[in-house]
Amino acid sequence: MFDLNNIRKDFPILERTVNGQPLVYFDNAATSQTPNQVIDVIADYYRNYNSNIHRGVHTLSQEATDAYEGARKTVQNHFNAAHPHEIIMTSGTTHSINIIASGYTQILREGDELIISAMEHHSNIVPWQMLCERTGAVLKVIPMSQTGVLEMDVYKTLLSEKTKLVFVNHVSNALGTVNPIDEIIKEAHAIGAKVLIDGAQAAPHIKADVQALDVDFYVTSAHKLCGPTGVGMLYGKESLLNMLPPYQGGGEMIAEVRFEKTTYADLPHKFEAGTPNIAGGIAFGAALDYMNGIGFDTIAAYEQELLDYATEQLKAIDGVRIYGEAPQKTAVVSFNVNEIHPYDIGSILDKLGIAVRTGHHCAQPIMDFYKIPGTVRASFSFYNTKEEIDMMIKALKRAIQMLE
Ligand SMILES: *Cc1c(COP(=O)(O)O)cnc(C)c1O
Repeated sequence: MFDLNNIRKDFPILERTVNGQPLVYFDNAATSQTPNQVIDVIADYYRNYNSNIHRGVHTLSQEATDAYEGARKTVQNHFNAAHPHEIIMTSGTTHSINIIASGYTQILREGDELIISAMEHHSNIVPWQMLCERTGAVLKVIPMSQTGVLEMDVYKTLLSEKTKLVFVNHVSNALGTVNPIDEIIKEAHAIGAKVLIDGAQAAPHIKADVQALDVDFYVTSAHKLCGPTGVGMLYGKESLLNMLPPYQGGGEMIAEVRFEKTTYADLPHKFEAGTPNIAGGIAFGAALDYMNGIGFDTIAAYEQELLDYATEQLKAIDGVRIYGEAPQKTAVVSFNVNEIHPYDIGSILDKLGIAVRTGHHCAQPIMDFYKIPGTVRASFSFYNTKEEIDMMIKALKRAIQMLE
């Protein structure tokens, strides 16, 4: 299918040990590991052409500008945006969402309605709550079922001529649910509302086509897809990005500055104040190239195998309850064992070299929904193996013995 051994060799961190055990890294939904191809691009930038972009006539600055703008084109092609200037380079998903939430302050009126889902990450909840406080708009929530599937019938009843914006994650980081964003977007557009899709969790597994989706805004972070932290993107339709005011003022985002009046630069620079994460942006492009080199269909098929295998093994253990059993999922399993606190399981697994996430996964409303303090979450990537899942299952059984 694909050469797993060779792929693993691209990730130097997979060779290290933790507490004397070989590292088993199952926290990919929090951040993914970085291949040599991306690390080398970052080192090459600082070794050979580190300089500021867009303003120098000298060679280094031109090389850096070309590489940075080349990365923007790579991002554009990957998400199939119509224009490179519809891709705003940001510090990540959180920053991208805040640009839009801030921009709508002057546009919304008291009593306007915004719709989010019951399974959002805090970064796709809090900026909208702050926007509601500033404007008097009201937040409505699409509920979900026990299996972790959005209740689309209720969604349809929430939509009205008052609805201005809808924000849903493409994939839930806590449950792995793949949401029906096609339908969510169509229904919202039918009543004239705009849609922002949080693609942070989807981007490492699913290649989204923003034009086919006809989505208004799509956001993601590079560090979830083999890129570095502190860089990401905001895709927005040209007309909407032109309508919104800038988020931050500063250098790079201006056309002319006079004390009487400043005019703003055209897209994308209007939203890119200050010196950006230049090496990070270039590495974001390299990460997409790396993943496209393997192929998103290949990645999705293999990760599905890992998910099915892990789910089956976990279900065979007495007392395990899995949260999130949507028919369409990415490779995330959230679970608890009887009344054992997830933190205790996570700590023992760490002693055995296995990195999982425990807690509310920045999605506290989901934990409240299930009336639990949190879950143990194992999230897989294409560089993980079934043998690693066997190691986790063995370690989990040991942890249960110790804790019960
Ligand atoms: C990780 C994640 C975020 C936040 O991404 P940052 O890189 O921390 O800004 C938002 N939404 C979802 C679904 C995520 O998985």
